[in-house]
Amino acid sequence: MPVKVAEEWLGSCSGCEISILNLGETLLTVLPQLEFVHIPVLMDHKYFGQTGQGDVHHLDIPPATVGIISGNIRNQEHLEVAMAMRASCDVLIALGTCATHGGIPALINACSDAELFERYYRGSESTDAAADPDDPNLPRMLPRTYALDEKVKVDLYLPGCPPHPDQIAEAITALLEGRAPVLPSKSVCDTCPTRREGKGAVKQVRRFLQNPQYDPAKPLAEMRCLLEQGLLCMGPVTRAGCAGAHGESPRCLSARVPCRGCYGPVRQDGNQMLDMLNALASNGIDIKGVIDRPSLLRFSGAHGRLMNPSRRLPAGQKQGA
Ligand code: SF4
Ligand code: SF4
Ligand code: SF4
Repeated sequence: MPVKVAEEWLGSCSGCEISILNLGETLLTVLPQLEFVHIPVLMDHKYFGQTGQGDVHHLDIPPATVGIISGNIRNQEHLEVAMAMRASCDVLIALGTCATHGGIPALINACSDAELFERYYRGSESTDAAADPDDPNLPRMLPRTYALDEKVKVDLYLPGCPPHPDQIAEAITALLEGRAPVLPSKSVCDTCPTRREGKGAVKQVRRFLQNPQYDPAKPLAEMRCLLEQGLLCMGPVTRAGCAGAHGESPRCLSARVPCRGCYGPVRQDGNQMLDMLNALASNGIDIKGVIDRPSLLRFSGAHGRLMNPSRRLPAGQKQGA
């Protein structure tokens, strides 16, 4: 009998769902074993009943063995959908770095809502200025952007922006076979073939505003490590996975570009900013020269890692309750 699957996207860009499609031929193998009972990205499943009669007054997400959620939690609707998915699904998977660590949208946690609205509704170069929306029917904004596990229990984390299809395939296959999935647990550096010559080569890191030194005619393994070339490469503090399961190289390094950290920290509870500053200091690099340190949390600003003072609630008051 096919395994029932429910999928939801919260504060999401749909890139994670495209990564599911990128399973390619594997998708053809696993699809007959799955029955999608709810997947708004593909089918028009109504939240409040399927008849249009208005007779259902609760979120109507059918029971499923496996629930998959991409995106983070930013407003009351996201929160209610996440809770309904948790109640309907036996196993809940956080798909993508927005769900596991807040992702790029959690950068907003570094700003106040007033700054957000000012920039979005009046400061954009490409749109006409407008007032802040005040329709009471719109979902209420929560105090900040949350990763999924800050609000509901998560059983399996598949980070990545987006996650590599190989990890999605392994997670689905393992669940179908009734075993624990085997997922990468090391750092991007552990899957990177670039040539390392040792610590102490540079004393300062710089942003990636100029190309690294390499010979395009030679393989990646002959390019010197970008961090040793003085470029801010997040490989030491970022979870491996983007190289896939078939011996490829990390995605950005394959393009001779430094890792930006999109898989989040190596440990689920790691802090990419602190871990990176530690890594730099232990390599003898002056961390005072690192410009815009909060950007080291560009993919992992949930869990209170990035926090504008305006988002801190008075003592005793709970975040986003
Ligand atoms: S993790 Fe990346 S690809 Fe997935 S929803 Fe977030 S921004 Fe999009
Ligand atoms: S720091 Fe970057 S370039 Fe160097 S080994 Fe790690 S991932 Fe590769
Ligand atoms: S190299 Fe880093 S930023 Fe690039 S895809 Fe891999 S984890 Fe993401």
